[in-house]
Amino acid sequence: MNKIMVIGAHAGDAENMAAATVLQHARGGPRHGDASASRATATATLLHMTLGEAGHPTLPPDVYAEQRKQEVQESARLMGAKAIWLSYRDGELPVNDDIKLKVCDLIRQEKPAVILTHWKGSIHKDHIAAHEIVRDAIFYAALPAIRRELPAHRVRGVYFPENWEDMDGWRADIYLDVTAVWEDYLNVLRSHEFIRGGISSFRYFDYYTALGTTRGCLGGFQKAVALMMQPGAWVRKLGHLPELEPTCQQGGETTHI
Ligand SMILES: [Zn+2]
Repeated sequence: MNKIMVIGAHAGDAENMAAATVLQHARGGPRHGDASASRATATATLLHMTLGEAGHPTLPPDVYAEQRKQEVQESARLMGAKAIWLSYRDGELPVNDDIKLKVCDLIRQEKPAVILTHWKGSIHKDHIAAHEIVRDAIFYAALPAIRRELPAHRVRGVYFPENWEDMDGWRADIYLDVTAVWEDYLNVLRSHEFIRGGISSFRYFDYYTALGTTRGCLGGFQKAVALMMQPGAWVRKLGHLPELEPTCQQGGETTHI
């Protein structure tokens, strides 16, 4: 079965920007676990580069980090996904070959067909770092010349989901219908205290709830999420414009070739 890998800078990033997409592919179809009607097409792994442990107004980071571990495990359970987190400190995500190769190794281990991660146009330095780390880790993972414990693995697709902090230069290339999994997505969001409210001044839950409706309106669905493709990924290589494809005459009939 195909696999989706979501890589976020902080615990909660992967969930708010991609849990609906994960649920749509990992669960699909009718909600609430009707296995006989399941249309699941993928499994998922969520990789959190930091636990986002620095953002609590009253809890010390080491205490909040333990809470974050519980939250990412609960949200992974709700998605039927696997959660992995790294030990980098919130706000101090480095950009170097050590971390790029660590992520490369995890990509080779998890073998995702598709990776979802941060777009580079972000207001948060850890998100910008995550974009660069993941971009190079995907390159390293695919390159047989990069000799690691596991063999090379080529990721087939990379997408940048919508994230309120990563909107500089971001655009909606794909509207994905997530109506069938919407309530499950909201439950994933509720498994994180900072998304429920009371920690950050940003209204995460209201924002992502409203966004699903807005993207649904624009996409022609009840609820939708939007994703950006890799720059250049939409390029088509053609001999003719699609509307001007040549036809040939066969016995008086016109046939498309
Ligand atoms: Zn973040």
